[in-house]
Amino acid sequence: MGYDVEKSDQEWREALSPEQFQVLRQAGTERAFTGRYWDCHDDGMYHCAGCGTALFDAGTKFDSGTGWPSFTEPMVADAVELVEDRSHGMVRTEVRCRKCGGHLGHVFPDGPGPGGQRYCMNSCSLDLRPRG
Ligand code: FE
Repeated sequence: MGYDVEKSDQEWREALSPEQFQVLRQAGTERAFTGRYWDCHDDGMYHCAGCGTALFDAGTKFDSGTGWPSFTEPMVADAVELVEDRSHGMVRTEVRCRKCGGHLGHVFPDGPGPGGQRYCMNSCSLDLRPRG
């Protein structure tokens, strides 16, 4: 595969919190309603917590009721990579950061926007920064 940002597991462990490592690098899921962004309504840009790439505009965030920060679309389609995920007896579409391969969450076809997508992300995979 190969991503622009590549680090060893040890380097990622040093760069991330234990929870971030488990989610971003081991495709874990934070517990619903526990992350810092599920109920956040601040403006700005959500960046990858692994490599800093801008991923989601706060203007596309909506209240999904799931307990995870949810967006109708990525800032640019190319910023994320979609991968079929057949784990846990389900067929889902995993969403990764295209730059570092970090696991962000999943996308589901039941979103409210024109594209009908619900990008269901983990708070700890993201870093909200002021716009610009
Ligand atoms: Fe990244």
